[in-house]
This record gives sequence, C-alpha cells and structure tokens, in this order.
Amino acid sequence: MSYDALWSDLEDVGRAGSGGYRRFAWTSVDATLREWFVATAAGLGLDVVPDRAGNLWAWWGSPDDSGPGVGVGSHLDSVPDGGAYDGPLGVVSALAAVERLRGRGFRPSRPVAVVCFADEEGARFVVACAGSRLLTGALDADRARGLRDQDGTTMGEAMAAAGIDPSWVGRDDEALRRVGTFVELHVEQGRGLVHRAAAVGVGSAIWPHGRWRLDLSGRADHAGTTALADRADPMLDLARLVTGAREAAQRHGALATVGKVRVEPGAVNVVPSRVTAWLDARAPSESAVRAVLAELADLPAPVEESWTPRTPFDPALAAGVSTLLGGAPVLETGAGHDAGVLAVAGVPTSMLFVRNPTGVSHSPHEHAERDDCLAGVDALTRVVEHLAGAR
Ligand SMILES: [Zn+2]
Repeated sequence: MSYDALWSDLEDVGRAGSGGYRRFAWTSVDATLREWFVATAAGLGLDVVPDRAGNLWAWWGSPDDSGPGVGVGSHLDSVPDGGAYDGPLGVVSALAAVERLRGRGFRPSRPVAVVCFADEEGARFVVACAGSRLLTGALDADRARGLRDQDGTTMGEAMAAAGIDPSWVGRDDEALRRVGTFVELHVEQGRGLVHRAAAVGVGSAIWPHGRWRLDLSGRADHAGTTALADRADPMLDLARLVTGAREAAQRHGALATVGKVRVEPGAVNVVPSRVTAWLDARAPSESAVRAVLAELADLPAPVEESWTPRTPFDPALAAGVSTLLGGAPVLETGAGHDAGVLAVAGVPTSMLFVRNPTGVSHSPHEHAERDDCLAGVDALTRVVEHLAGAR
C-alpha cells in the first residue's frame, strides 16, 4: 500500500460539485470512510477497537500489555465543502508512518494506535470534536444523543443507523487510559510555516476562543414609506458590530468574525424587526479576546454561547519533538482540534503542522504540496519511533 494509494482511495468519497468534501458524521459517506479505515488498518496488521464514543483505534501491539501507548491520527469528517487535507492528512500520515516502521522491522516497546476520531468538525450536530469530547466526558452522553441535525435526526438515531448502540455511548476511561501520549498531525490552517520557510512545525497551544450571540432588536417597518429618522433598524447595529469587532480585533492582535446572522422577517422591502448575529473571537490570550468584547459595549450585551480557555500542549513534549525534528518551528493555532480535547483531559499531547501555502482551510481550495506532506510523514515516523521506543 503506497502513500499515494491511500489518497486515491479517499479522493472520490463524499466529493461535492464544488470540488470540496461533504463528509458528515454518521452518514453513509462517513460509513464508507470508517470502513476504509478499518480495512486499511487491518491490512497493516492492526487491531481496530472502537471506543464508546465511536472513535476507531487501530492498535499495533496490545494496549493492555505494555501500555499506555502512543496515539497518532486525526479525523476523516469534513465541514461542508471542506478541503481534502483537514483531518485525512493526519490519518493517512499516521497509517503511512506505521507502515514504514513495520516495513523497516521496528518493534515498538510501547503499543502504537492510529486513531480515526468521529465527528470532529461538528458539521451535522454543531458540537465540534464530539467524538473526543464524548470519550473524555467533556460532552455529556445524554446531551450528545439528543443533539439534532437540521432534518431533526438526533445523534443517537444517527449513531444507531450507523450500527452503534447509542445506549453504549459515553465517556470511556478505559480507552483513554490506553493512551499515554497523543500526537495529531494536521494541515496548518494559516501561513505560520510559510513565514518560517518550514515544511513541518510543532504546535504549542490552541488559542482561547469564544462564541457569542447578539440579539439586536428594532421595529419592522415599510422600506418605501418610513423616513430614515423614524426607523429603529437593527441592521445598523449589525453593521457597527461587524466593523467594530474587526477594528477591535486589529487593535488587540485578535481575530473576530461575524459568520452567521439571522434577519427577521428577512424581506427585501421591510426594515428588520430583529437581527441575531454570532461573533467568534480568538486571540493568543484571554485578555485580548475580552478586550475585543469590551469595545462592543455600546451594543446589546453579547450572550456567551461557548468559551474554551487557552489549551497548552505538553511543553516538554513540544520542545522534545522540535529538537527531534532538527529545530522545527513551534507555533500556536487558533483552530480547535481533538488533540486539544485530549490535552485538557490530561493526556500529554502534541501536534505537527504541515505547511499550507495559501493558509486557506475549510474550503475546496485548501492545499498542501505533496513534498511537504511527505516531510510530514517523515516527521511523524520519527516522532512515533522516538515515543514508542525500539525494543
Ligand atoms: Zn481538522
């Protein structure tokens, strides 16, 4: 099984007309990807063990004999019209790294697992990293089972349709205990490595980030007869939110995005009665994120819908991996990952990033050069070799 063959297996699965991918959790496309993972792992001689969150762990060596083991991998699901690399690059690279090590006769002293996390993007049921959060207990099983997609199907129903008993789903301490160290390789979702002229880098932390909802209310009125001075138009507040958040983000070294709005009644000839807007803000520090919010004080108070504190990865592990890779640059990211969920749960965790020439991600235009991807496989192979130790 060659590295390129792994990619060509995946190339057409869930491909949309846009050229991007629609690989949503617990759909038939997802089932195809999971079956591919199981078959490919089995072909490498690995034993695939699902955990109680629907994540698939393909073990090289018995996790209960000489563990805890070294976990490597990522996810195969995507955002709507996502790119080819976000997720699959980590899974493909992990499989390729194991194949190389096996091929050269390496015998690990600790077991190694390639993991395929379920439902990382949250594209269908909105909660991101659902598989890893269920595993660690950060996502309550009852809440997960009751999450609904836009057609009204619950996650529990979707899991049942995919052959998983939803009553079995939940936090899995045994599966978690088997993982002594975790490393997720991922395409970079920015241009930090382009600026550092490096193919591969090491992640040191995930920025703190939050999501807020702003309820902007006004009064519906006739667009053709209501004088401007007589209007209560919440769309103007939305405009101030969008520009204000952006300017504040610029001042505080943060990122701020208004990516979703709901306008009521939503007619071209009606002054809106109400606008609901969602703000996503992230920065290297919590204080910078809070400073952005503070500058929006003249708008209705934002309702915090989620807050994720800064997630540092294991500093000694990051430093060791960087040294092992000949001084690979160490960088932070603003994107959430399953690796962050495991780090919060106390698993010593690291990430490897592969250069993304444009920085574009969550888009059909997401790209990584083949040579950089192969450098990522080299790096991951060395990291696994180092962490699993020769016998
Ligand atoms: Zn991802």
